Amino acid sequence: MKILFASAEAYPLAKVGGLGDVAGSLPKALRSLGHDVRMVLPRYGTIRDVREDLGPFTVQVGGRSWEGRLKTSGIDGVPVYLIDQPELFDRPKVYEYEDDGQRFGFYCRAIPELLPKADFWPDVIHLNDWHSAMVPAFLRTAYGGDERYGRIKTILTIHNMQHQGLFGRDLLDWLGLPPKMWSVEGVEFYGQLNFMKAGISYADSVNTVSPTYAKEIQTEEYGCRLDGLLRSRAAKLSGILNGIDYDVWNPAKDPIIAKQYSKSTVDEKATNKVALQREAGLPEDRSVPVLGMVSRVTEQKGFDILIPALPGILALGAQVILLGAGEKKYEEPLADLSKARPGFVAYLKYDEALAHRIYAGSDFFLMPSKFEPCGLGQMISLRYGTLPIARVTGGLADTVSDLTAGPKSGNGFTFTDYTPGAFLDAARRAIAFYRARRGWKAVQQRAMSSDLSWNASAKKYAALYRRLSGS
Ligand code: ADP
Repeated sequence: MKILFASAEAYPLAKVGGLGDVAGSLPKALRSLGHDVRMVLPRYGTIRDVREDLGPFTVQVGGRSWEGRLKTSGIDGVPVYLIDQPELFDRPKVYEYEDDGQRFGFYCRAIPELLPKADFWPDVIHLNDWHSAMVPAFLRTAYGGDERYGRIKTILTIHNMQHQGLFGRDLLDWLGLPPKMWSVEGVEFYGQLNFMKAGISYADSVNTVSPTYAKEIQTEEYGCRLDGLLRSRAAKLSGILNGIDYDVWNPAKDPIIAKQYSKSTVDEKATNKVALQREAGLPEDRSVPVLGMVSRVTEQKGFDILIPALPGILALGAQVILLGAGEKKYEEPLADLSKARPGFVAYLKYDEALAHRIYAGSDFFLMPSKFEPCGLGQMISLRYGTLPIARVTGGLADTVSDLTAGPKSGNGFTFTDYTPGAFLDAARRAIAFYRARRGWKAVQQRAMSSDLSWNASAKKYAALYRRLSGS
């Protein structure tokens, strides 16, 4: 089958968070199943790996003609189309610009336009999050009657319900969408234009990135005001767990870490721990439990309970190493705590290489998320034999199981209540388990044995494409 995979991020060309990881690895896994998968990305200023120039590429939107070029790149054998429109995309960041509505509205408008230019007519266009979610609205309106477009099916994967792409009414006109779409059944959402809602309403199929999150987003607590619409679409809403890229995340071959190790040589992991302690300026002591965390520093990731729980966790004699960047309101108290508490080191930045060293060198990985659509951190850490201490929500509920409740099957420590006390209690149990040493290595090996690759999930996506296109 022919698939066009649209995403605002794709590692290594552009990555802000987990969406980049998924888009950097799922297309590759689908290609190895024999599908002709290609990707489309805006050409951001930071993308240097540009290969071919397919020529001028003009898109009409916002009452004018935008002259750009269509270029190509590639990710591990997956062809990538780059929409090169410097006015909108030749900037240092992926998101967080005043004109993101125009930028990604343009991207959505350009996607159907590139098909004749690239002479690629997919069976399915796979959209990811709000940035590409307006494509089905365009397919329904601008191309009515054109059979080449009429047979294309669309699927929207929701990676995070919290970011929906909300803009003013004027963007509807700027995008050239018909006023009749401004309705409760269409793109209107409490007086604003909502990209994600447009995708949920008009895509042929909608899914999200874990079975538990697929259920959660149909509730008021997690649905971010789209729960009613999602309940009404429940029949076409599924949850497919993400995988991780085994080429990137493999402790046996990872060139970035101090000492490679596998399940059978898991004792070597200790070399990485000591190297990490040294790098962080912490006492080099194998008997001290090291708790790592690699995360965006936002409300979603649980910093409202992490910050108050930290002194208690440190008082248990643990070392805590955090790598993350994000909101000032959390970064400031974290910086203060790391100055005041000798056992806590906070790297407030984005650093791929250090992330590898933390996954490899920690004994436990912290994920106290308020909500978590899928979560990759806990999967990467399991692969590195680093046991997650995680809250039972979304994809964490589908991948981490508690060792106290199931000593024979557990692979981490979990808690349910979103409170510092519940988090601290899970950390206390984890540290006690570490200190007892009984079964420690066996559990590390169990964690490393779970299949977290894209293998199974890519097959589920392929089945979904087949169902949709009737082939
Ligand atoms: P989300 O997509 O919500 O940010 P995920 O757990 O799905 O969360 O994915 C986060 C990804 O981003 C992981 O690969 C994680 O290692 C990486 N990451 C997050 N913050 C940083 C950082 N500061 N430095 C390096 N990698 C990071």
